[in-house]
Amino acid sequence: MSNFIRTNGLICLVLWLSSCSDPDKVPQTHSSTPPVKAVTADAKAVADEVERFPLRTALFGDLHVHTSWSMDAYAGGNRLGPNSAYRFAKGEKIELQTGDEAQLQVPLDFVALTDHAESFEMIQPCTMVPGSPGFDLQLCRDMRSGDLDQATMLKQAFAMAGLRPAPHQNDICGDDKQCQANAMSTWQRVQTVANAHDDPGRFTALIAYEFSSLLTEMGMLHRNVIFRGTDVVPHAISSMDVSNQRDFFSQLDAACEGPCDVLTIPHNTNFSWGLTFSRTDEDGAAYTSEDLERRSRIERLFEVTQQKGNSECQISVGAADEDCNIGIMFEPCEGKDDRGCARESSLLRNVLLDGLALGKETGRNPYKLGVIGSTDTHTSDPGNTRGGIPPRFKAAEGIGFAVDRVLEAQSPVIGPIRKLSAGGLAGVWAEANTRADIFDAMKRRETFATSGSRMRIRFFGGDLPEDVGAQNNPVALAYERGVPMGSDLHGNGAPRFWVWASQDPNGPPLDRIQIVKGWVENGEQRQSVRDVVCSNGRQPGTSGKCPKTTADVNLESCERTGTEGAPQLQVTFSDPDFSVEQSAFYYARVLENPTCRWTTELANSADKDLPDDLPATVQERGWSSPIWSRSK
Ligand SMILES: [Zn+2]
Repeated sequence: MSNFIRTNGLICLVLWLSSCSDPDKVPQTHSSTPPVKAVTADAKAVADEVERFPLRTALFGDLHVHTSWSMDAYAGGNRLGPNSAYRFAKGEKIELQTGDEAQLQVPLDFVALTDHAESFEMIQPCTMVPGSPGFDLQLCRDMRSGDLDQATMLKQAFAMAGLRPAPHQNDICGDDKQCQANAMSTWQRVQTVANAHDDPGRFTALIAYEFSSLLTEMGMLHRNVIFRGTDVVPHAISSMDVSNQRDFFSQLDAACEGPCDVLTIPHNTNFSWGLTFSRTDEDGAAYTSEDLERRSRIERLFEVTQQKGNSECQISVGAADEDCNIGIMFEPCEGKDDRGCARESSLLRNVLLDGLALGKETGRNPYKLGVIGSTDTHTSDPGNTRGGIPPRFKAAEGIGFAVDRVLEAQSPVIGPIRKLSAGGLAGVWAEANTRADIFDAMKRRETFATSGSRMRIRFFGGDLPEDVGAQNNPVALAYERGVPMGSDLHGNGAPRFWVWASQDPNGPPLDRIQIVKGWVENGEQRQSVRDVVCSNGRQPGTSGKCPKTTADVNLESCERTGTEGAPQLQVTFSDPDFSVEQSAFYYARVLENPTCRWTTELANSADKDLPDDLPATVQERGWSSPIWSRSK
């Protein structure tokens, strides 16, 4: 590559920032260079007029979304950039790479686009800017023409998974300095498009990116990094900057100064080979109390469900709860296996338990995590979780999709595509639909996760009356006399909990609500799961289980059958085993009536047999963030 072309490429990059040869253009109502100060001022003026909900309203969003600005998404055939993804989130119709039109039944309230920071240095020179260093490389030509498929691209990326920091793609983006300049210019663009689409009171576009450190054998130490406002880090810290997780948090903490506020959300911990929350870093060094304190300040939430499965709990991996068996991607680790299998420190429930244990050992629980769900879509269609076959699976093979092949197709990361889940959503209880309100709700962990449903879940604990649900304003009373999900209980007495859920207006009714408790007793990590309320007056017996619902699904038509199910469920309950001597957490899990799994709908539509290695139906669900009680 000659110097002339390199220089020319950089000029193009600079020009591109302002002249915007972007196929996915920013709306004309906003300048394409980021008027950061002006946006802040505008946002504040509008924020004064936005509708506010003192008792907080449930807002739904997707905090894990890839567009064509992620190299793996681009290599998968996606040519829709952030602008299209925002338009889709707001309810507009878009045409997916398959040629299918897609539109959300109900628009999202907020979104965080989380393209891989590792792609930021490459995406412009390789795919957008003729004359830049990498544009004419065979690799980039193949990427643009679709000859380099996603599988090959991912295999190449994972081949370097052992290198820390990850190497720059110098052949594509120039020397390290040029690569960093490219990365910074993409990061600027990410902010500009988010600012253009943020609409306080109506739709929130959070500025965000994904940190994607890779482990061998397709393992991941991935986190989404989300900012409160327009004050963000100058450079999106990626796996090319850090040598381990400790280093990541330390650099992020140092770079996000002053008015900058940030939180991180680990995801696909089911693919982390136990490392995201193990007692040692990936280089084997034990965390110091300073490391854990820093991390617990920044890492407030946990992505419990998404298209690559669930990370809540697993039978034989520290749990015996039959309702854990959904979205399981790996067999339990055996013996010395430590890759490609499931470990306790990969799963939310065990991580919360280990947090209690660490709290006992060190005086501070470092793993107080709320929950959210998201999609991890790579086809620029945030929140597209309902309504038959998720269209992104049609894109799973890249351009040239054929319906009847998806059931057999393999992904290099996931294996059989049919094992994928439909993808989840994030719920937050916020006072208004603004960046600051949503971020603050996430920071105080007043959030819930769903596996794609728009069900709403409230969960409170404290000095609550037994009939709180029958009072005039139960939510006001619950805030007054208790604490919401994501909080610590105060007071010394045994708490009473109140849980409430309402169904997705466009989904099936609710089957039951369960309460999961975790505690540490005599040094042993313990857990229990009880049904606390079920539809149609079914009562949990001494087993803690309601009789199974009679609601079902006709597998040929996917129509729901039976009459059981409730539009709303709520109940108060106390823990008969509550002890002030014990630290514990409690969270709610809400199950819908059964529906066809997406694979059943797909098989029906192509007149094929149902896959025999997967359930034909699924009970989609939601999870509240926990409430913690601390031993006195
Ligand atoms: Zn991702």
